[in-house]
Amino acid sequence: MNTSTLIAPPALVRRAEQQDTKAIQALDSAHYIHPFTDHGDLATRGARVMTHADNIYVWDSEGKKVLDGMSGLWCVNAGYGRKELADAAYQQMMTLPFYNSFFQTTNVPAVQLAAKLAALAPKVGDRSFNHVFFSSSGSESNDTNVRMARRYWDLMGQPQRKVIISRHNAYHGSTMAGASLGGMSGMHAQGDLPIPNITHIEQPHHWENARAGETPAEFGVRAARWLEEKILAIGPDKVAAFIGEPVQGAGGVIIPPETYWPEIQRIVDKYGILLIADEVICAFGRLGHWFAYEKFGMKPDLVTFAKGVTSGYIPLGGVMVGNRVAEVLIEKGGEFNHGYTYSGHPVACAVALANLELMEREGLVDRVKNDTGPYLAQRFAELKDHPLVGEAETCGFVAGLVLVKDKVKRTMFDPDLAVGMICRGHCFRNGLIMRAVGDRMIIAPPLVMTRAQIDEMMGLIRLCLDATLDDLRSQGLLG
Ligand SMILES: *Cc1c(COP(=O)(O)O)cnc(C)c1O
Repeated sequence: MNTSTLIAPPALVRRAEQQDTKAIQALDSAHYIHPFTDHGDLATRGARVMTHADNIYVWDSEGKKVLDGMSGLWCVNAGYGRKELADAAYQQMMTLPFYNSFFQTTNVPAVQLAAKLAALAPKVGDRSFNHVFFSSSGSESNDTNVRMARRYWDLMGQPQRKVIISRHNAYHGSTMAGASLGGMSGMHAQGDLPIPNITHIEQPHHWENARAGETPAEFGVRAARWLEEKILAIGPDKVAAFIGEPVQGAGGVIIPPETYWPEIQRIVDKYGILLIADEVICAFGRLGHWFAYEKFGMKPDLVTFAKGVTSGYIPLGGVMVGNRVAEVLIEKGGEFNHGYTYSGHPVACAVALANLELMEREGLVDRVKNDTGPYLAQRFAELKDHPLVGEAETCGFVAGLVLVKDKVKRTMFDPDLAVGMICRGHCFRNGLIMRAVGDRMIIAPPLVMTRAQIDEMMGLIRLCLDATLDDLRSQGLLG
């Protein structure tokens, strides 16, 4: 299939043409408060109105086709337009659209999904995952983690273990607990965050945080030891858990050195602290594994998931609860006074089951691990020869590059120039969605992307880097 000529089905094109962009933008600006958006900007420029999507492409109300290098928001792993997922939702809605799981009731899709996830989660060391708690998002799941970790220590007779350690520039969601666990200073600055008993250490980012001449392996161990220093400063008997994304996503696709997670594991084991892997991005094939903890030598007690579990077709999240916590919570726990109306929502669970089946049938996890992932790594590494690119790395189907003023001296641009945003603007205009995190440009493409489509995306990325370079040269900003 020559996917570069793939066009929207006629019915979809008609639907797009029926939208009056200006009218939608005016209504949008008048009534809709967007997440993470400056509404002054939005009112003057008008939101881009997305109307339909197919495979790895999305279309806006002006009929412009864009290659979605971000899988929506890291979630459309199976690609757009998958009829199986729509059918699963329709059938479940007509059978049992909703019932709760409180008060000794359950439903078939929730049970089947819990069992399926338990089967997919690899056993590592003495940790196995036979239990799942469901929510509707990553943020809610991390709220659950905070409550579950503290409940665990209460039941263990150590109620003074309350502190949860996270990392600067981590992303764990946007609820009170989620934003507190996250290490985004902009989020902490609004609304008195973090909440008490959550603290942060520095991230394991070799490019930004390593000493001159320090190898990634040396840096990985040193970065992990920041955790031990923090534990000792707080008092080991007061620490409940450490939480981290195996690879930081929203922070800018920050891939830790290989030595990092094994050293973290040694430290949490030494002090008996729970390890929480936030795999909201990393699970379900994103890094070439059903769960990424397996890849990194982590033995987590709790694993957060959301996004890719339904390929984003419907909201669903949850926590995989390892045997160490489950045994205490279930056998000693009595009632855990926690749950959501939509915990185990039958429609969301039915869509997740259909999504996981589809991913298995098409071998998407294996493809990313052994075929398209390595190919993306090879093609992405070629960008290192570009004058603007200081570092370019991938892990499975996430990738990040840093735009630099001087590659040799490793000097960055003045943040006020917002070079990342200039580059992102070129991407949009040229039909590519690539995200800017400061001057890091990142992608997380749908897992269905073929080698030919990777070539198409790489062509667009190079085009946009060249256009950014031209801009900077013509403005005399290259020093
Ligand atoms: C997106 C994300 C979250 C938050 O998930 P929501 O569904 O937006 O609440 C939490 N953790 C990580 C690692 C994420 O990427």
